[in-house]
Amino acid sequence: MHSHFGMDAQTTSGEWLTEAHGGFGIAIEIKEKLVSTVSEYQKIELFETANLGKMLVLDDIIQFTEYDEFCYQEMMAHVPLFAHPNPENVLVIGGGDGGVLREIAKHDCVKRIDICEIDQKVIDICREYVPSLAKGYDDPRVNLYVGDGNVYIQDKQQFYDVIIVDSTDPIGPGESLFNEDFYRGMRGALRESGVITSQSESIFLHQDVIQGLLRIAKKLFTKYSYAGMYVPTYPAGNIGLCAASLGPEVEVPARRPSVEMQRQLRYYTPEVHEAAFKLPRFGMEVIESVRAED
Ligand code: SAM
Repeated sequence: MHSHFGMDAQTTSGEWLTEAHGGFGIAIEIKEKLVSTVSEYQKIELFETANLGKMLVLDDIIQFTEYDEFCYQEMMAHVPLFAHPNPENVLVIGGGDGGVLREIAKHDCVKRIDICEIDQKVIDICREYVPSLAKGYDDPRVNLYVGDGNVYIQDKQQFYDVIIVDSTDPIGPGESLFNEDFYRGMRGALRESGVITSQSESIFLHQDVIQGLLRIAKKLFTKYSYAGMYVPTYPAGNIGLCAASLGPEVEVPARRPSVEMQRQLRYYTPEVHEAAFKLPRFGMEVIESVRAED
């Protein structure tokens, strides 16, 4: 897999997968389709790409490529885990590929890692074909529950220190993870200094989704904010997370990675943690307009 591609433009006659939104899109050159199936919940495709390793596509939306998945997984996991002073019990909702589990397992202070993923087929396919992410399941602290995250969360009381919502988009099975009822469930499931992050789309493309999540977070949590990150194979080359907490600041880390752990990370640093919450002015206005509402 290439880590950089040089400056030469290339035209090829190979097969490309295109994901487009709002009249523009990204195109990924495909070497081989490895899996194509339909589960109870969604269409699932796994590709070997020409340059970016394996790529998972659900309902025609790219979920990850092995080339740049570290950007998303590291930020989704390490922002809330380092914002929390001592996370012990951690829950992932969605995240069936295992990539976020892999990152959580790097924290020695974590004692228990639960995951609630709705689709057993996503888990099975990633375990068979994508060990670079699915190795996250190998950690002995991991407990897997297969079911709807919005059902799972409702009877949990003050148990988790960190909850990470690694979901698909708010259409299809992921829809139930974007409403107030789900966020109330998460608040009830958190211990008193609890911190959450949730996959929150692109500041260029989905300002309405971001504002909707921030309005819910504002109602239910004491701190809330939005951070952006570079991910070249998501639409517009970026995605974001909403972070919310019942106590700790979310925009600055309470702990720092050890020297040894920092060596294992390719995206997250304490400086990147803080910088990700600094948005360009048009983005800050999207956030500030929710903060200014009564
Ligand atoms: N990084 C990805 C992205 O945003 O493109 C997300 C990847 S992860 C594979 C998303 C997972 O969320 C999928 O495996 C999907 O099955 C799962 N999911 C969707 N709705 C869910 C729900 N209601 N409860 C639990 N898991 C859900």
